[in-house]
Amino acid sequence: YAAKQTGEPFRRWSPALDERTSQYARLGAQLRAGLDGGQFRVVYQPIVAVPSRRVVAVEALVRWEHPVRGPISPAEFIPVAEQNGLIFELGEWILATACRQLAEWRTELGDLAPDRVSVNASARQLARPGFANTVAQALAAARLPADCLTIEMTETAVFQGGQAISTLHELRALGVRIALDDFGTGHSSLGLLQTVPVDILKVDKSFVDNITETGRHTVIARSLIQISEGLGLTAVAEGVETAEQADVLEGLGYRLLQGYYFGKPSSRPDLAAREAPFV
Ligand code: C2E
Ligand code: MG
Ligand code: MG
Ligand code: MG
Repeated sequence: YAAKQTGEPFRRWSPALDERTSQYARLGAQLRAGLDGGQFRVVYQPIVAVPSRRVVAVEALVRWEHPVRGPISPAEFIPVAEQNGLIFELGEWILATACRQLAEWRTELGDLAPDRVSVNASARQLARPGFANTVAQALAAARLPADCLTIEMTETAVFQGGQAISTLHELRALGVRIALDDFGTGHSSLGLLQTVPVDILKVDKSFVDNITETGRHTVIARSLIQISEGLGLTAVAEGVETAEQADVLEGLGYRLLQGYYFGKPSSRPDLAAREAPFV
């Protein structure tokens, strides 16, 4: 990983690299058209409490249906939007859409609505003064209480310090929860927890993947739940794909799980508490 990072700036020009750069620029221009043309939508993935299986929250995830290429992953286009600055407009739209959707579910479903919606924010959004204001406006426009919203960010975004940290304090002051996403994969995991205001640790899928084999992965997942309990934080395990993983995580003390096993991201997620689909 380190070699890949430090190696990048020294790579020489090549036709392939030039092609990639212009593809990047083209995608950036198409993002603009996509925003204007309504090609984006937001899908929602359940975050489920165990053992009750109540859907306590949903994570909002953006989708882009490109008119020629078809669906493009956010992992591909979010970095482009961050680079050309469209992330601000796109991010605002995602935030407003997610807040409106939860408000709608609350009206429609009452107690069966999820308590919270979780929205991902990128490094540049956090680093820009006024982000907390944008969040407050999205909440107000949807008439949604601030404690219905969680903002997810990666360790790397927070690690930039400065304005990002001020933003977190401002969000906290509003009553919005903060989640550290992909926890354990960044550079500075444990040190960050001493200095950054955080409510929720989202334990990365990579620690969940092989958890049924007793061994290294289980040890790390156990340590992470202990750390989060010790610090008074809430842990969410990401990327739970099987009943076995869910069982092991529940046994380790995880009370909030998210992953394909409980539901894929969808425009109309199943929000009802479910019986276990196995024996
Ligand atoms: P993330 O925030 O960590 O989101 C979790 C990703 O894992 C999502 O991919 C989700 O669909 C996927 N996932 C959830 N459960 C499972 C599972 O059981 N198995 C597998 N294999 N995958 C699972 P997605 O939607 O493609 O998003 C990828 C990343 O793109 C997100 O990672 C997030 O960093 C970023 N992203 C997505 N939507 C947004 C957004 O609205 N704004 C920003 N700034 N970034 C976003
Ligand atoms: Mg996330
Ligand atoms: Mg995540
Ligand atoms: Mg992840």
